Amino acid sequence: MATGADNLIFAANCLLSDAKTLYHLMLNIVIFGPPGAGKGTQSAKLIAKYNLVHISTGDLFRMHIKNQTELGKRVKDILDSGLLVPDSVTIDMLEEEVKRNPQANGFIFDGFPRTVAQAEALDAFLENKNSAISVVPQLDVNEQELKRRIAERKKVSGRADDDEDKLIKRIDEYFNKTIHVLPYYQAQRKVVTVNGIGEIEEIFDNLCEAIDSAR
Ligand code: ADP
Repeated sequence: MATGADNLIFAANCLLSDAKTLYHLMLNIVIFGPPGAGKGTQSAKLIAKYNLVHISTGDLFRMHIKNQTELGKRVKDILDSGLLVPDSVTIDMLEEEVKRNPQANGFIFDGFPRTVAQAEALDAFLENKNSAISVVPQLDVNEQELKRRIAERKKVSGRADDDEDKLIKRIDEYFNKTIHVLPYYQAQRKVVTVNGIGEIEEIFDNLCEAIDSAR
């Protein structure tokens, strides 16, 4: 006959197996690349295919600025200048957004993490939820092509930070700070480099192949 202790052990094992299942089922992607690499375009296609929640910290900041929230007022000048928003502000906002989506199958993080401190915070946060980053596809695009694309985008985006001098600041921030996030994930063997130049569909197929083989 099962004792109280047996029942407790059984219940604990069930919980553990649920947690492990959850851990393996969630697909969490960090889409990585410099400004203009096509992260937004490819994220939109990936969320449709894998049924994920897209979290773009740039889009979130722009939404706060548009709605003139307290956070929006704090970060407006920083965004306009092309510099990075302080880690603590960005991490808090990101975590709130993940918490708002408890039913998600997984997330695509776009524009986050941009510093090693942000990457560490994200790992700790996901670990707490018995989850982890599954794969980090890196969209590889050279600097000349990035500048050409953003000049094109500027014509329709109306983004103040797409002006040439701001763009140079953003690309600088990428090569000074954000690029260091790559070795962090390389040490975890999660980075897969995908050529970001070519047809959108072709890049998407290569991304999906990279994601599927890393799952
Ligand atoms: P892009 O990838 O085209 O440079 P984003 O839309 O991702 O642009 O970000 C726009 C701006 O928002 C950045 O230049 C920065 O000021 C701010 N930002 C977005 N994500 C982060 C982040 N993870 N950490 C700090 N600042 C960020």
